[in-house]
Amino acid sequence: MLCVKCNKNYAEVYISGKYLCKFCSRDEIIKRVRRELSSTRFLDRNDAVLIVFPEFYKDVSYLIKNVINRICKECKINFSFEEISDEGDINKTLWDTVIKIKNSTENKIILPFTADFYLAYLIYSTSTRKYYYINLYDIIIHAFDKNIFVPLYNTPLTELKGFSEVTGELNVKDELFNIILKWSKNNFSDNEIYHSFGNSIQLIMDNIKGRCNICNALLTSTDFACCEYCSKSFSHLCLGPLQSKVEEDH
Ligand SMILES: [Zn+2]
Ligand SMILES: [Zn+2]
Repeated sequence: MLCVKCNKNYAEVYISGKYLCKFCSRDEIIKRVRRELSSTRFLDRNDAVLIVFPEFYKDVSYLIKNVINRICKECKINFSFEEISDEGDINKTLWDTVIKIKNSTENKIILPFTADFYLAYLIYSTSTRKYYYINLYDIIIHAFDKNIFVPLYNTPLTELKGFSEVTGELNVKDELFNIILKWSKNNFSDNEIYHSFGNSIQLIMDNIKGRCNICNALLTSTDFACCEYCSKSFSHLCLGPLQSKVEEDH
């Protein structure tokens, strides 16, 4: 099948409901990120930006840098990168990511997460009843006095395969999460879902009132001051009901 846009090259990427060649699919993504950059006014020409990424998003992180440099050729953005190691519990990996953001000196952060990751996390958190970091789903997140830009939050990885930087599929060490990733990739191949599940996330966020005092994780009980990871690492800052609960357990 030929690309429906240029009618010259073979269509290789299904994107925005169209079958495009890799060249036209790249243009589509660049257009999308350009639109997001202008609607959010996230960047100034000489900004310092930190890209924080779990190791399985290394290629996407460098792709984002290249795309932004292509969009703004006159900009002198100073990109730095912070890689988070994936330890096998997806929430722990996300916690490490959030704490890195919180402690960074930069005020502008980019997260490379893609729509397929968020969809899998929505299913994962529903099945584990831990919705901790579902609040990272948005184009811009304001947290810890920082602006966090997520340019690909509604773009699944499959829409990026026209770029040579993206070398494969997502592989995380959390087994359950990985199964969900593969399952949803096989079951939602028409991509429509990636542009529509955001409403469910918003509903969950509106209905869960508890927040970790330190990392903002969503907590289903307001009895606790902190999430399980913060209470381990910053126990002195997590006084309150959680502390007495821990003492009871011992
Ligand atoms: Zn084309
Ligand atoms: Zn926390």
